[in-house]
Amino acid sequence: MTQPADAPRPAPPDLRSGRLPPEALAANFADAHPPLSRHEAMVESDRCYFCYDAPCIEACPTGIDIPGFIRAIATGNLRGSAMTILEANIFGGACARVCPTEVLCQGACVRMAEEGRPVRIGALQRHATDWLMANDPAPFTRAAPTGKRVAVIGAGPAGLACAHRLARHGHAVTVFEAKPKPGGLNEYGVAAYKVPEEFAQREVEFILGIGGIGIEHGTELGRDISLPALAREFDAVFLGIGQAGVRALGREGETLGGVFNAVDFIAELRQAPDKGALPVGRRVVVIGGGNTAIDAATQSRRLGAEDVTIVYRRGPAEMSATWKEQEWAQTNGVRIRHWAAPRRLLGAKERVTAVEFARTRTDETGRALPTGETFTLEADMVLKAVGQVFVADPLHKDGALALATEDGRIAVDADRRTSLPGVYAGGDCVPGPDLTVSAVQDGKIAAEAIHRQLMG
Ligand SMILES: Cc1cc2nc3c(=O)[nH]c(=O)nc-3n(C[C@H](O)[C@H](O)[C@H](O)COP(=O)(O)OP(=O)(O)OC[C@H]3O[C@@H](n4cnc5c(N)ncnc54)[C@H](O)[C@@H]3O)c2cc1C
Ligand code: SF4
Repeated sequence: MTQPADAPRPAPPDLRSGRLPPEALAANFADAHPPLSRHEAMVESDRCYFCYDAPCIEACPTGIDIPGFIRAIATGNLRGSAMTILEANIFGGACARVCPTEVLCQGACVRMAEEGRPVRIGALQRHATDWLMANDPAPFTRAAPTGKRVAVIGAGPAGLACAHRLARHGHAVTVFEAKPKPGGLNEYGVAAYKVPEEFAQREVEFILGIGGIGIEHGTELGRDISLPALAREFDAVFLGIGQAGVRALGREGETLGGVFNAVDFIAELRQAPDKGALPVGRRVVVIGGGNTAIDAATQSRRLGAEDVTIVYRRGPAEMSATWKEQEWAQTNGVRIRHWAAPRRLLGAKERVTAVEFARTRTDETGRALPTGETFTLEADMVLKAVGQVFVADPLHKDGALALATEDGRIAVDADRRTSLPGVYAGGDCVPGPDLTVSAVQDGKIAAEAIHRQLMG
């Protein structure tokens, strides 16, 4: 059915704070998945078959010995369990909370194929790592100092995973971070109910507990420091700068009041001491199909928005948010409309009032094309979540360096070496999946390669 763009009479925009009482907000932004009790963890660990050639290990980007750590829980050895996890993935605590396990370890679990109910690997991983973090703030020790110095740019999962592994080998690490707090998107991006506020900082402190890692906050590559200077001053450099840019919609009305980048809205929400002070629309339209769209929509609902709709230009299977994330948004009362792309944003008095969408279909190459039909959704607030982009500008201060790129990001080899000698990169700033666990693996691989280079 086609509706003319001006059919609904737009109501005055309703964008305001304080939609819910403080108790409701506290409940909505608390840990969404409470931890397992000791008894629940024992029962769950008993469900593991301890498979030989375990498919869950293959499916974990950091290759955690999953049956090994589950067996340790079953025998009451929580320290051994946690150390098995953290040896492979120093962000084992964050990954237990944020990994899309339904398409990684749990998706591959033989219990999933057999009975549609995998071993709850994520919850067990959290059980073990939470215990260690509460009982031993510094379980790792440094090797004797090597006298080598490495610069890490970015204190996100990639940068800190690299820094920790280098510190274990005895190298001195300086992390340069633009923001006032470390943690990258664990602190500023991931939904508050997945990683409640204080956890990201506690985990960073735990990681820094090894010693030998200094962080210089408020120091930005491209503004305060340059890559050529760092390459001269340090024995090696690791770039873990993520993706600083946001893709634009490129549609009329994008600059109207009430239209925001979803990542900025989420970062503000994560940092707000009083969530009730954050304005949210009564009717919110979120454009996009990934994690960011799901988190922005769900958190808008949990702030008190009445009517929240995600609109995505292809079908459910093409969304980069997994089926479980889509289901999560829907159980939070978010509507997802597929097969539609924004045509223009409509407004009154410089504020957005509605978005006009074109219905789409895909052609044989998978491109989304307009069908000619349109419809309009009224909105007091529009959140754009159509993707982040890598920004290369910081790399070019003080001379253009021949840093090769691939798919618009920094090109790296299997050891996460860039085209510049002694410069490595990993995480969201290199091609590959944009996941915390993949960033951690990149940092770990790069650190091992740097260690070989420095000691070889
Ligand atoms: C809203 C949102 C939700 C997400 N949810 C999930 C999820 O549930 N599960 C999951 O697995 N993944 C999720 N992701 C993806 C995940 O957060 C990233 O893949 C991961 O954080 C990448 O780590 P990184 O270290 O490469 O980059 P980042 O986490 O982005 O860290 C990069 C760091 O570098 C710093 N930096 C950038 N430029 C400079 C500069 N010029 N100088 C100095 N410092 C600089 C930044 O301030 C930042 O601290 C989500 C992403 C977003 C945006
Ligand atoms: S695949 Fe499932 S049952 Fe097998 S070892 Fe992994 S978690 Fe245990």
